[in-house]
Amino acid sequence: MEVIQSFTIDHTRLKPGIYVSRKDKGFTTFDLRITEPNKEPAVAPAAMHSIEHLMATWFRNSKVKDDVVYVGPMGCLTGMYVVMTGDYSVQDMRDLTIECLEWILKQKEVPATEPQTCGNYLLHDLPMCQWECARYKDRLEHDFHCEYKQLHVTLQDGMVFADA
Ligand SMILES: [Zn+2]
Repeated sequence: MEVIQSFTIDHTRLKPGIYVSRKDKGFTTFDLRITEPNKEPAVAPAAMHSIEHLMATWFRNSKVKDDVVYVGPMGCLTGMYVVMTGDYSVQDMRDLTIECLEWILKQKEVPATEPQTCGNYLLHDLPMCQWECARYKDRLEHDFHCEYKQLHVTLQDGMVFADA
């Protein structure tokens, strides 16, 4: 099996911030890390689901909407992935994300929480979503981290582990 360009990161040394998770095939995958993995509680599923609806809505209506490929939550519930085309740095993404979080903090409801528009429409929590977003915004503004500590994890059959 072809080994893809990939690395994993040392999650024991990963602070909340914004990182380049991977850059390939013309796309950049940004790791918007909201909580400190394995040290702080992960984002609750309902709050993360609301972050997904709100963050995806903002990015897909923003001035960079034409370059947004994907916005979605990490399975570990400690952050979001945003995949972009075009040339964006972590500083660009920091500015965009702060703008996005400011918008989320002003919302009175989560968009598209009807059975017709969402696969689990009762699984939402706007107050907790906004609590997480307020803390994340504060961290992006005052305690910004963007340098990965890399680890290689090779599986027994030679494949390299990838989580996105
Ligand atoms: Zn949904």
